[in-house]
Amino acid sequence: MTYRLIFFDVDSTLVTIEGIDVLANGDPEIAALTDAAMNGRIPLDQVYARRLDIIKPTSDDVEKLAATYVHSLVDGAKETIATLQGAGAVIHLITGGIEQAILPLAKSLHVPERNVHAVRLRFDANGAYKDFDRRSFLARPGGKELVGRDIRARSHGKAAFVGDGVSDLEAKAAVDLFIGFGGVVVRPRVKENAHIFVTSFRDILQHLS
Ligand SMILES: [Mg+2]
Repeated sequence: MTYRLIFFDVDSTLVTIEGIDVLANGDPEIAALTDAAMNGRIPLDQVYARRLDIIKPTSDDVEKLAATYVHSLVDGAKETIATLQGAGAVIHLITGGIEQAILPLAKSLHVPERNVHAVRLRFDANGAYKDFDRRSFLARPGGKELVGRDIRARSHGKAAFVGDGVSDLEAKAAVDLFIGFGGVVVRPRVKENAHIFVTSFRDILQHLS
């Protein structure tokens, strides 16, 4: 295995959905904000709080999203991750998604909790939305690059990042290989700037081995 550390985005990369859009029940205003952020037209921190303040997801909503995530894996993702793990690669999920919704998905992929880097939500005692972790780098522009660099500072080996969005592309400088994934959505800026661009998940294996 040439690459020992492999970082994956989650929404529209490992799964066919954008979690925040699912929580918004397809509200077109939210979907437009997500699309603008993932294509790099609006900085992430400008939409992050705004979308959650509009949606105000309850803890029940987030639990339902967790179940939806597990059933929305991209074709080939589960087998590809298992193959990489079998070859000795260490997988990390680096996402601006909601930690509580992503942990069960990570578990189903045998990715340990300590390798999940996501944004935790806070709820009150009745499960109503209170806030998100405002200290998280992953709700801000450039956050994935910082998290990638932090992981590499305490791990050895070459690293690769696989993602669909402009927030993923920002992490290109932190890794040896950036693979753009266009199997769910093709983002032109990612396609143009990735080292490699694939539309079939299984194709990443040939570039990582
Ligand atoms: Mg994504």
